[in-house]
Amino acid sequence: MASGTFATAISCMDGRTIIPVTEWMKKQFKVDYVDMITEAGPDKTLSQGTAEQIAAIRQKVAISINKHNSRVMAIVGHHDCAANPVDKETHFQQIKDCCAIIKIWELMIRTLGVWLNEKWDAEVIDDTADQP
Ligand SMILES: [Zn+2]
Repeated sequence: MASGTFATAISCMDGRTIIPVTEWMKKQFKVDYVDMITEAGPDKTLSQGTAEQIAAIRQKVAISINKHNSRVMAIVGHHDCAANPVDKETHFQQIKDCCAIIKIWELMIRTLGVWLNEKWDAEVIDDTADQP
């Protein structure tokens, strides 16, 4: 097992999002590292992608959980996403759909749906810890 504590993020390849997501998660969950699984428009890929695309993401999440002992993850959508240029309401719906998909995976990991807004601040819009 790797030393240090880890959380997991499914986030965009967009270079503007990497540091804000990493720093927010490190602070929020008091972890040393954030395993970053990047896609071009991850909220779209996970909510509407092919079975193969979704399985590839799940496989990476499983590595983070099993090898790095991650116990919390976030699926992150963001403002001004070039790969997924939909309105904010659609992003929010996709992020919530992603959380529902991850829940079906039964990986026993707390999952947050996160919106990175126009100031690159993280807003939590879904959290499985709040659900029965
Ligand atoms: Zn993006």
